[in-house]
Amino acid sequence: MNAEKLKNYINGEWVESDTSYYEDVFNPATKSVIAQVPISTSRDVEYAIETAKSAFESWRNVPIPRRSKILFQYHQLLTENTDELARLITIENGKSLSEAMGEVQRGIENVEFAAGVPSLMMGDSLSTIATDIEATNYRYPIGVIGGIAPFNFPMMVPCWMFPMAVALGNTFILKPSEKTPLLTKWLVELFTEAGLPKGVFNVVYGAHDVVNGLLDHSAVKAISFVGSKPVGEYVYKRASENLKRVQVLAGAKNHVVVLNDADLEEATTNIVGSAFGSAGERCMACSVVTVEDDIADEFLAKLTEKTNGIEMGNGLDDGVFLGPVIREDSLKRTIRYIEKGIEEGAKLVCDGRERLSDDGFFIGPTIFDEVTTEMSIWKDEIFAPVLSIIRVKNLKEAVEIANSSEFANGACIFTSNASSIRYFRENIDAGMLGVNLGVPAPMAFFPFSGWKSSFFGTLHANGKDSVDFYTRKKVVTARYKAPTF
Ligand code: NAD
Repeated sequence: MNAEKLKNYINGEWVESDTSYYEDVFNPATKSVIAQVPISTSRDVEYAIETAKSAFESWRNVPIPRRSKILFQYHQLLTENTDELARLITIENGKSLSEAMGEVQRGIENVEFAAGVPSLMMGDSLSTIATDIEATNYRYPIGVIGGIAPFNFPMMVPCWMFPMAVALGNTFILKPSEKTPLLTKWLVELFTEAGLPKGVFNVVYGAHDVVNGLLDHSAVKAISFVGSKPVGEYVYKRASENLKRVQVLAGAKNHVVVLNDADLEEATTNIVGSAFGSAGERCMACSVVTVEDDIADEFLAKLTEKTNGIEMGNGLDDGVFLGPVIREDSLKRTIRYIEKGIEEGAKLVCDGRERLSDDGFFIGPTIFDEVTTEMSIWKDEIFAPVLSIIRVKNLKEAVEIANSSEFANGACIFTSNASSIRYFRENIDAGMLGVNLGVPAPMAFFPFSGWKSSFFGTLHANGKDSVDFYTRKKVVTARYKAPTF
């Protein structure tokens, strides 16, 4: 693949950025440079905002069933191109092809959900709220929306945002991650092919200047952000200060509880998938297991055996489960955390450093036993294939440990006891819970998000929350005097 110099997509065409600064985009499995991404300027983002603002004036008046038809056509085109989309995700992100296929599927489901906009956008009415008076609640789009995405789901995360925002009559500017910018080209080209008018969906590549441009411009009415906690906190504060709607989906440290009545075969298979799939670079990845003392040795033996059997390599190759982490600095950071874990007194059971490879940014799966809540490997989001095990007396202690984390994105439990499931559900701090599964994956039709430092805002992504987030309401109270006969 040639190192293509990417352009921004503004007003229905690919336009060269104003910048002279480009960053290399790598295939993390081979370290080869596959593109160069512009770190666009505030002038670029300003042009995109003005374009989106003017496109909004006509797009908001396009009849809703017509908008829905474009979404249906888009759905068709994305489905036809599933294989190519997944391949590109693997090339720029490193995850295995089967995980990339799963990601494409999740993204397409968001388009499918958004295509139901005529029902989703329907208001409510009451024929008689007083004599001869009725009231109706109408929904309207809010204007230009800015979306800021992370590197780990180049298709699914943007699809949590723009299909619904656009279906509801808004116009959109996406700032993809500069580390995984290539997939966006397809997202935008196929939407245009589906019949989307110019200026409705724009893409500006870059970093801080583009983000700040979106956060500060008065024409941008709402910001959807997905990424790490420090950046999310900054985005939330700055956008709120500028009086915008904001939803920030941030970092995670997901705990999985394994009780002594769990099916250990099933639990260990699922935990290996959750902790090490996508190289641990998933906001729903299992990063801590709290396991009941009396089964901990048996659990760990099974987990280690399965972990040692993991096939690592280029995600495009058959049978590969674990791909590389995204960049050299992620690799170095992961090694530093493994060293810290050892220094802090945790017991290293599987050492990912034994499987480093010069071919790409590879690090093998790592497991620490005897982890405590004082250790940085428990506190921090490592975002890599590193799993901590904490042995606990019972479910109560497991829940207390999980709840003492600053993060509260997802949490899972493996047990066959309904009372334990209920206790877990009622007492755990997390937005997304899994029962006897390793990853409570986002679904287009349910709201998705965490609590505490994993989420800032009110309305979550996806589901009916996203309809509320991207619309504003008008309630019309009208008097019609009854005719006299
Ligand atoms: P990141 O925070 O580094 O980057 C996210 C976006 O913010 C990117 O587009 C990036 O260009 C931009 N950005 C980075 N630094 C910035 C700064 N100083 N000022 C302005 N913009 C900046 O996140 P990442 O490394 O791309 O993604 C991984 C993170 O995303 C993890 O923390 C993960 O948990 C989180 N994530 C959360 C969810 C969720 O649903 N909660 C989903 C996916 C990823």
